Amino acid sequence: MSGQGIPVLILKEGTTRVRGREALRTNISVAKAVADAVRTTLGPKSMMKMLVDSFGDVVVTGDGATVMKEIEVEHPIAKMMVEVAKATDQEAGDGTTTSVILTGELLKAAEELIDLEIHPTLIVEAYRKAARKALETVDEQKIRIDWKDKEVLKKIAMVSMSTKAAYYAREYLADLAVEAILAVAEERDGKIVADLDNVKIEKKDGKSGYDSQLVRGVVIDKEVVHPEMPKKIENAKIALIQAPLEIEKLEYDSKINITSPEMMRKFKEKEKEILKNMVEKIKEVGANVVFCQKGIDDVAQHFLAQLGILAVRRVKKSDMEKLARATGASVVANIRDLKPEDLGEAELVEERIVGEDKMVFVEGCKNPRSVSILIRGGTKQIIDEAERTLKDALSVVRNAIEDQEIVVGGGAIETEIALALQEYAKTLGGKEQLVVNKFADAVMTIPKILIENSGFDVVTKSAELVKAHTEGSKYAGVDLETGEIVDMRERGILEPARVKRQVIKSASETAEAILKIDDVIAAGKAKEEKKGKEESGEFG
Ligand code: ADP
Ligand code: MG
Repeated sequence: MSGQGIPVLILKEGTTRVRGREALRTNISVAKAVADAVRTTLGPKSMMKMLVDSFGDVVVTGDGATVMKEIEVEHPIAKMMVEVAKATDQEAGDGTTTSVILTGELLKAAEELIDLEIHPTLIVEAYRKAARKALETVDEQKIRIDWKDKEVLKKIAMVSMSTKAAYYAREYLADLAVEAILAVAEERDGKIVADLDNVKIEKKDGKSGYDSQLVRGVVIDKEVVHPEMPKKIENAKIALIQAPLEIEKLEYDSKINITSPEMMRKFKEKEKEILKNMVEKIKEVGANVVFCQKGIDDVAQHFLAQLGILAVRRVKKSDMEKLARATGASVVANIRDLKPEDLGEAELVEERIVGEDKMVFVEGCKNPRSVSILIRGGTKQIIDEAERTLKDALSVVRNAIEDQEIVVGGGAIETEIALALQEYAKTLGGKEQLVVNKFADAVMTIPKILIENSGFDVVTKSAELVKAHTEGSKYAGVDLETGEIVDMRERGILEPARVKRQVIKSASETAEAILKIDDVIAAGKAKEEKKGKEESGEFG
């Protein structure tokens, strides 16, 4: 086909194509732009960002991960940068800003190397070696901890929370996070596992952060459906029902002709009887509490109340699942199939007044590894930021408990990695040496940005920091309040080793992937295409 000099057009009209160095340069500049967007949010002294979406909703946050989640990006490379944040968040629950910044720095360094006529393939290979070395350094530097050491766990929680909005009840929430994770932690095959799915977060505005509480059980943001039902049941036998406790409304017009008031009455009677049977079935299997995923008819409510059964309707599916896990109940699709063994158990089910609403608390569950944290706070915005903060804290405490390995933050571990990489570079040949040294510089930008964001002089402070490390203070970092070089381990600036490992992995892998692209073929814009905002996972 080719060789005839006839160009074969395989691309649709409107398609643009950028190749080679030009493509790479464009991609790198996009990646740098995204990294720049979160640069000032790194660390405890960072700035806040106000994000306004296309609907005019406002999010104010000091959290890079939230910025990454909320910004809508078009360019595929920008999307890859968002993915870095996502990957880090999913694996480690923290370290998202750091990984985005590091990716940007690695690419910036690569650009400089390319200017020196070093081929991207060589850069990719040397980056891979450097990343391996960096991971080894994390392993050498990690500190073993006792997973029940609440002091240490609390410090880890505090460090991750300290970089979020100045949330006044931070320390209080850190304690809740530690207690929650310790409550759900269990030993499985000689390993400690803390499943975050067992920690439910409920939010209710009103009061203050200090009124937030850890509930050993499940909190459902619903009220008891009928005023005459009991509001408190001890030794609860709990039925979880998926189907409505209602009768599908008869379609009078199509099928049956109601010709007299008498007939109407009979239909009503029949309906009542069906509902009564449903309720009696529930009583018969021994349930005294019902959570129904759908509606409950007034008549059924009345019967349930008469039998002293506490019922809640329109419970969210996810809550039904949480209740099943916690109480040992099976969710039953049809009441007819309800059996005594489907019931779950809890010591107490009680409706309590929280703020202006009522919520149902299920406590002392069969499975004690099921807890809820009820967050309180003045406004929705405060509560939302508290939730993001708490989620990070829960993740880092989980990491620390599961791995029992931590590293020292505040720039200490990064400086150690950078120095180790420089040593390693000396063992390599010319170009590779250059590349690995650039990787070291990229890692070193993390402490530098922390210093910069705190308003200290980057050149002086980072030089002091490096000096302290070369003199053997491997935990030295910059106190971001005073600018002094201090022992960050003593300061309690501790982070899970998992977070730092994940940062290195996701940043280096993404940088490598971007460096390998030398051809960008973009389809023309589809007309009138309207994409909804991508449903991104939970960020923390
Ligand atoms: P990320 O999204 O990457 O977790 P953060 O904004 O949470 O970004 O910042 C994390 C960085 O801030 C870590 O390097 C951590 O060690 C550092 N850090 C947190 N608290 C302090 C502190 N009090 N002093 C010095 N460094 C801190
Ligand atoms: Mg963080």
